[in-house]
Amino acid sequence: MTLAIAAIGSALAMTLIVGVRYLATSGFFAWLTGQVRPGLYAKLGPQMKREVYWSLLSAGIYGVPAGIVAWGWQNRGWTQIYTDFGDYPLWYLPLSVFLFLAAHDTWFYWTHRWMHWPRLFRVAHAVHHESRPPTAWAAMSFHPWEAVTGAVVIPALVFVIPIHAGALGFVLFVMTLMGITNHMGWELFPRSLVNGPLGRWLITATHHQKHHDAYKGNYGLYFRFWDRFCGTDLGLGDFGGAGRGKSS
Ligand SMILES: [Zn+2]
Ligand SMILES: [Zn+2]
Repeated sequence: MTLAIAAIGSALAMTLIVGVRYLATSGFFAWLTGQVRPGLYAKLGPQMKREVYWSLLSAGIYGVPAGIVAWGWQNRGWTQIYTDFGDYPLWYLPLSVFLFLAAHDTWFYWTHRWMHWPRLFRVAHAVHHESRPPTAWAAMSFHPWEAVTGAVVIPALVFVIPIHAGALGFVLFVMTLMGITNHMGWELFPRSLVNGPLGRWLITATHHQKHHDAYKGNYGLYFRFWDRFCGTDLGLGDFGGAGRGKSS
């Protein structure tokens, strides 16, 4: 019983952390958008309220597996998370980050593509596409069913792939940064990167915006590998695309 209470307490604490992190980071990028693209979100007030609502609901769902696994890591020695840099060679640090991102990307690509199947789309994924065009607040704007598919990934991977706690923090940083900036409605990264050789393999806002405009293709999260391999890559979008200002 006390174990259950401790795990529930941890889940609640993690929900609070995820929720506050969302409000702080999305809030920061929404503010930044106001500075560099004044008026971009001018007519999107009601939509942004919905994005915050669904995102905070998602925070509650993300917090549960993350909180329970964090508790088990601290109290029961669960997971392959390590804190001593000597436990694995230093070259493994960047490799572990890449393995986490690649595994997350693979899971996301296939579940996301699956959720575009019309029946599932209506149930699980339509909420995310109600953002037309998305804003910095849409980072976690998912229906609870979709939030469940996203919430289990990192808590499952820490049981399978060894990772230093600091490297895991970096993975979560990348996850948060890309989740927000991919929906921000403008490109944060330099054109030389987006249009250069790296941009052929990395996903940034210019790529994901096209997914929201076209309602298909460009299903990946961090990398374009699966999209290119499976022929679903639509290339880079622009920010005045078909989705902009569409009313239906
Ligand atoms: Zn989608
Ligand atoms: Zn999206």
